[in-house]
Amino acid sequence: QAKAAGRNTIRFFDPEIQTVIMARLALEADLERAMALNEFRLYFQLQANDQACVTGAEVLIRWLHPKRGLVSPAVFIPLAEETGAIVAIGDWVLEMACRQLQVWQDQPKFCHLRLAVNVSAVQFHRPDFTDKVSGLMARYSGVAGLLKLELTESVMLDSAEQVIRKIQLLKNLGIRFSMDDFGTGYSSLAYLKRLPLDQLKIDQSFVRDIASDPSAAVIIQTIIGMAQNLGLEVIAEGLETQEQLVLLKQYGCHHYQGYLLGKPLPIDQFEALLEQGDLSLALKQAPI
Ligand code: C2E
Ligand code: MG
Ligand code: MG
Ligand code: MG
Repeated sequence: QAKAAGRNTIRFFDPEIQTVIMARLALEADLERAMALNEFRLYFQLQANDQACVTGAEVLIRWLHPKRGLVSPAVFIPLAEETGAIVAIGDWVLEMACRQLQVWQDQPKFCHLRLAVNVSAVQFHRPDFTDKVSGLMARYSGVAGLLKLELTESVMLDSAEQVIRKIQLLKNLGIRFSMDDFGTGYSSLAYLKRLPLDQLKIDQSFVRDIASDPSAAVIIQTIIGMAQNLGLEVIAEGLETQEQLVLLKQYGCHHYQGYLLGKPLPIDQFEALLEQGDLSLALKQAPI
């Protein structure tokens, strides 16, 4: 029957697959309207060092869908990257982060905090990306030195020269760069060495298994050694247990982010957590 329909005809023989496709199309349509309907929210997850100082936060987007509730970025960011909606979403996240940094500038308790913002490769590769960010830095003066952009290894699929040029241009304004989910991508060491990064972020899959899987522990030690050789800071993401913290510290990682220290929170709850101040307990208890 399918053959008889000919080569150029698409038919959904499996109603389950059809349901999945319809749901995706509906989500895609909702996503196009989400920005105008003000449905995105920003959450903040603290980053701390082994001196028990909160150094800042990572900005994590959520989509408050009228019917579905909070939709995870793991679901809608890949979709937004395919449709191109990620460009407007990414612009908005960056601007909100700059605005938050500016607000904190007048508050002695918070004025030292840095914000890390995720930048999609699709967004980064747009020809006007550096112009847009430069424009933002002009409008929000004084925040560039507090801003960190998290790239993933997928940016390296483009020509090295282009990527280096863009990073360098923004670094000249004072912006820092981190390589997110490090260890999960395809980046060659030769390429990595040429990128003017400031930080490597160890992927949470390795942190999760650090105590149970010897190969995860070896990968983490290798990443830390590599970062030291390249003069980069290392941060571990997905830190959940005291046991993981002890091992990370022992291997020479001094910056952390994860549920052990704090979950991603809306801004008011994030500020309240910092003001209450006992989050450093976990860090203070860890030996070494
Ligand atoms: P990511 O940048 O690697 O962010 C870390 C993810 O791990 C976040 O998931 C965070 O909530 C989660 N996480 C933090 N600590 C722990 C922990 O201790 N245990 C576990 N199991 N998970 C932890 P989230 O917020 O769902 O974000 C998922 C991904 O979506 C992010 O991964 C990032 O790639 C992307 N994303 C989030 N916000 C943005 C954004 O504004 N722009 C872009 N382009 N991507 C974003
Ligand atoms: Mg990130
Ligand atoms: Mg990550
Ligand atoms: Mg990750």
